[in-house]
Amino acid sequence: MATYYDVDTVQYQCCCGKRRPLCRLYICRHCLKLRCTDCVLHEVDSYYCPNCLENMPSAEATMKNNRCSNCFDCPSCGHTLSTRATTVAVVNPEDATKSTTKKMYYLACGFCRLTTRDVGVADQTVASGGWKDLENPHTGRISSLLDIYRQLAQKEKAEKERKKYTKRRTHLYYTDKFGLAPVAAKMKALPSMSSLSIKEDELIADIKPGETVNEFPSLPDELFSDPIQVAKVTSMSQRLGTPEFQPDQTSKLYPIHKQLLIRRSLRCKQCEHNLSKPDFNPVSIKFKIQLVALHHVPEIRILKIPSFELNKETQLVLTLCNPLVYNTTINLLAVDGEDDFSTAKVKLPESPIVLARRDDAAVYDDTNNGQPEFKDDPSVIVFRLSNKIGFNLSVTPEKADEEIKVSFILRHEYKNTAAALPNEDKEPEIVPLDHRIFLHLGKLPQK
Ligand SMILES: [Zn+2]
Ligand SMILES: [Zn+2]
Ligand SMILES: [Zn+2]
Ligand SMILES: [Zn+2]
Repeated sequence: MATYYDVDTVQYQCCCGKRRPLCRLYICRHCLKLRCTDCVLHEVDSYYCPNCLENMPSAEATMKNNRCSNCFDCPSCGHTLSTRATTVAVVNPEDATKSTTKKMYYLACGFCRLTTRDVGVADQTVASGGWKDLENPHTGRISSLLDIYRQLAQKEKAEKERKKYTKRRTHLYYTDKFGLAPVAAKMKALPSMSSLSIKEDELIADIKPGETVNEFPSLPDELFSDPIQVAKVTSMSQRLGTPEFQPDQTSKLYPIHKQLLIRRSLRCKQCEHNLSKPDFNPVSIKFKIQLVALHHVPEIRILKIPSFELNKETQLVLTLCNPLVYNTTINLLAVDGEDDFSTAKVKLPESPIVLARRDDAAVYDDTNNGQPEFKDDPSVIVFRLSNKIGFNLSVTPEKADEEIKVSFILRHEYKNTAAALPNEDKEPEIVPLDHRIFLHLGKLPQK
């Protein structure tokens, strides 16, 4: 169950040398190499709300502080708040002696049962929207600081421009000398950088520096005399859920706008081809391009770890699964050069192993499980089931106190469809791909 449960027991080596489980790797069809998340460029495709699935351009997302304006999270437990309707009796405006009913809405958490009524937020007359945001007391200061940073950035840009301009001036000098007047006129039309920067210097001098707080108000006396009511005090994560307000009491909790999520695409750092690109629409779970290695490289899993003994050869059964739609030949090879990973000796099957192609329909067909088309050596192949086989590997642990670890090279055939793309008639070229495999087999039983 290496894929789903303990993913790190079988690892593949990325082109950068890092060891990762196969499900966390990508394969670049152009470089024909495995790529881990550190070897790919992560790009933001779109922002969307995970609750209402509305997507928005990045400028709008920045303006809304990467939060959805319509959806809210519970300030107490973080669950999504849902809208509840209720009817309240109001005095009839025409006849004061009679009362009529009116539909009102509030937000409630389905998990911890917190409602906006508990925290003193008035009900709304419309089902969606209309919830007022709390006013951050520091908005003015933050926006003035942002303004100053913007000016500083502008100044920096102007200085860069001016450097270019001074370079041009030497050039201008020569143009004057040689009578190239039209070019000189064009240069004069450029805004004077020096006057611009003086104006900015004045603005930047206007910054009001932050005030140092030397004295804090003393704690209220009740804190020492009255018993503490834990249910009324907020936890650290509840407080930091809204860093601008940091409510200390549960009665001051306020619904939090839902954080937006992103759809991201991945690109190979070497050749800049896309390795993963999701569909733009957040409702769709499909990918336009998805080159996760699990769909292209045969996967090794450990069937069951036998009980090992020091310096005793034990048969370990591994399974190999072919995700490709054609038969592939597998060779297991010893690691070239020094192997600083293994703590056990491994005897690999010498003959190549042929893995049947993946056939989704074969899962429902019980009759052809024997697959007589493959002539298997029963000392190597334990079982064969459509595109999967179980095979033996002899492992001899050599170190008493360390974890049993073995490493070898998996060579498989891969149809290079990317190279065949420009010429449609050409059969895709079959290339051998080598991957280094690392197996973690646990510790020797203690005596
Ligand atoms: Zn890598
Ligand atoms: Zn939303
Ligand atoms: Zn809740
Ligand atoms: Zn690449």
